[in-house]
Amino acid sequence: MSSIQRVLVTGGAGFLGSHLCERLVDAGHDVICLDNFFTSQKTNVAHLLKHPNFELIRHDITSPIWLEVDRIYNLACPAAPGHYQYNPIKTLKTSVLGAINVLGMAKRCRARVLQASTSEVYGDPEVHPQTEAYRGSVNPIGPRACYDEGKRAAETLFMDYRRMNGVEVKLVRIFNTYGPRMHPFDGRVVSNFIRQALAGEDITLFGDGAQTRSFCYRDDLVEAMLRMMETPADFVGPMNIGNPVEFSIRELAELVIELTGSASQLVLRPLPEDDPTRRRPDISLAKKHIDWTPNTHLREGLLATIEWFRGIDLSHYRAPTPNF
Ligand code: NAD
Ligand code: UDP
Repeated sequence: MSSIQRVLVTGGAGFLGSHLCERLVDAGHDVICLDNFFTSQKTNVAHLLKHPNFELIRHDITSPIWLEVDRIYNLACPAAPGHYQYNPIKTLKTSVLGAINVLGMAKRCRARVLQASTSEVYGDPEVHPQTEAYRGSVNPIGPRACYDEGKRAAETLFMDYRRMNGVEVKLVRIFNTYGPRMHPFDGRVVSNFIRQALAGEDITLFGDGAQTRSFCYRDDLVEAMLRMMETPADFVGPMNIGNPVEFSIRELAELVIELTGSASQLVLRPLPEDDPTRRRPDISLAKKHIDWTPNTHLREGLLATIEWFRGIDLSHYRAPTPNF
């Protein structure tokens, strides 16, 4: 294949997708960004529109679309709990029909397709840290199931299209990732804490804040996705990508207060149902196959994210759902 690829990024106007598009455009590829703007807006990619090798399509991935491409990164799916729980049936359709539509396209075009799966496939894990061999502990009937089970079903579809049709697929399981261009009203913990700290509002700790997450900076994560896409065809994954340094949510809140110099106070709020108790990726597979380790420390990544939040005008952002 020529070194210039025709690349489709579904969910390309989102937080991770827009950065991925930037990297691909900079590398000279012909990039099609497809998005329905449910949890994002055109401003995330407005700076790319001037590039002749970038194209933006408003489309909902639950409907088929005919394009000619060599690579597909399938990111279209609401990712924040408040977003994916707003219309859970649509979330499940997006994962399942979206997977069927991109896999059908990949089959027709003989394209390679990468699925942005998630640590949520492990549910509330009994195994710590989580390795790819762990099959997870997901509540199939709870409020997170539309996302978790949707992403699990998408993984199944990817593997079955590979087995049945020889489609070249790649699965990455992304752990909590943060950085500039997160939707300020997505309700995720990093955006909430930074927005609250900068406004001098109370910082909302769900539960007692002892639950843990491991936070990966956007640039590290996108680099891993790009490397995974170009691994040999027989390496499918699933492969964890994320930062293996674990923090409690209380520690995160204290760090955000320190880095913003805020006078905000911590307040306790009820822990949402099925909120995972702890989460940390085992990234041995990523180290072995793509020679990748994240190198942005939380402090450094938070400083960059805080700077970005300071620079935006919140009135230019519409909360995608009332659930934030
Ligand atoms: P995001 O919400 O910013 O991006 C998702 C994008 O998909 C948005 O632009 C949204 O408008 C678009 N979208 C949603 N439904 C669509 C549909 N039906 N048709 C077309 N476009 C649609 O979130 P993100 O953090 O950038 O996440 C990107 C992908 O990575 C998602 O698939 C998510 O599940 C996965 N992921 C992210 C994280 C993380 O911590 N950021 C962790 C695990 C997995
Ligand atoms: N959380 C919190 N306060 C907030 C938002 C989130 O304490 O204002 C907690 C949430 O309960 C969870 C963790 O932070 O334990 C991460 O939440 P997020 O929604 O970012 O993502 P998750 O990893 O749960 O999908």
